[in-house]
Amino acid sequence: MPSHEDQPETTTSTEKSPTYWFDDGNVILQVGDNSFRVHTSVLSRHSVVFRDLFKLPQTSPDMRDGCVVVQLHDIAGDVEVLLAALYDGCSMYFGARSCIPFSTIACLIRLGHKYQMEHIFAGAITRLKSCFVASFVECYALRSRGSRSMSFVDADAIEAVNLARLTQIGTVLPTALYICGLLPNNLLLHGVPRKNGTVERLSSEDIIRCLDGRANLLAALREKRFKWFFAPTIRISDGCRQEKTCKAALKVMAMNIVKEGLITDLSFLDNVGLDERKEQHLMCQSCWQMVQHDDERECEAIWCDLPQHMGVTVVHWNIPWAAQGMPHLKPVLSARQVSFDLHFRRHDIVIRAPRPRR
Ligand SMILES: [Zn+2]
Repeated sequence: MPSHEDQPETTTSTEKSPTYWFDDGNVILQVGDNSFRVHTSVLSRHSVVFRDLFKLPQTSPDMRDGCVVVQLHDIAGDVEVLLAALYDGCSMYFGARSCIPFSTIACLIRLGHKYQMEHIFAGAITRLKSCFVASFVECYALRSRGSRSMSFVDADAIEAVNLARLTQIGTVLPTALYICGLLPNNLLLHGVPRKNGTVERLSSEDIIRCLDGRANLLAALREKRFKWFFAPTIRISDGCRQEKTCKAALKVMAMNIVKEGLITDLSFLDNVGLDERKEQHLMCQSCWQMVQHDDERECEAIWCDLPQHMGVTVVHWNIPWAAQGMPHLKPVLSARQVSFDLHFRRHDIVIRAPRPRR
């Protein structure tokens, strides 16, 4: 059980975590001015990096409260999120109906990747991919800015792009870049503040991809979705029995769509199918079904080209993984993605030098 001691026993000015300071802990994670007293067995069980670290001969380490002190160059709030997943995962993070905000998922991906925590990392990536989907049939989660397992806002897409870059998960990039392209220029260029106080920014190359992507999507909307506006004659459905009325209704609808700015609306996924347009009552059912069917087909065609529009190459695009019985994680955790040099890692995990006792 976490302890809640009133009086610090050490002579340091660090602040003990009220939640993750266990009396029987045997290692103290020092993160800036914050410290967490946890268990080497728990860290080793989930993290390759910590497992390797604790195997090293630890001669004369700094001991505080009878524990080895390990200094982490992370943000205390991020480490707390990670410890919550490790210690309170059953109740807080992996309940059957738990929907977790993007900021938490992003933190688990960053630290799960850094400390090679396969299960934490894989679970968080699955949730990320549940929203930044690769197939059109699953794009409702992108449209509604949330799946059953994760919620996000448009500004989170910047970090989603950077996480996709970090972890080399290409299927997330087209949709994440697409949502970035919907952001105001100010956020696109200068980034968004994260909960932990840092600012998340796109690389200049990805900003250019978003700007080019806007232009590409505008052209695609004109050339695909709304191409029937510019056809010499208005097409009606094969089953139509009121040609004159329906042609007039379709003309009215085209004019209204232009007036409403829908023809240049980059958030085309939000109105796929032109649901609930008032003009549907002016035409026959057969023509209305044709309009909806054609619109969805053209939107899917734009979706199929989304990687190309956003300037990235994706191998498995528009393939519904679940429908094919293929696990989401299969392409995620390749050895190449999770392996990074242990020597490099040790720069970030420093066993503090011994200090003279008072
Ligand atoms: Zn008709």
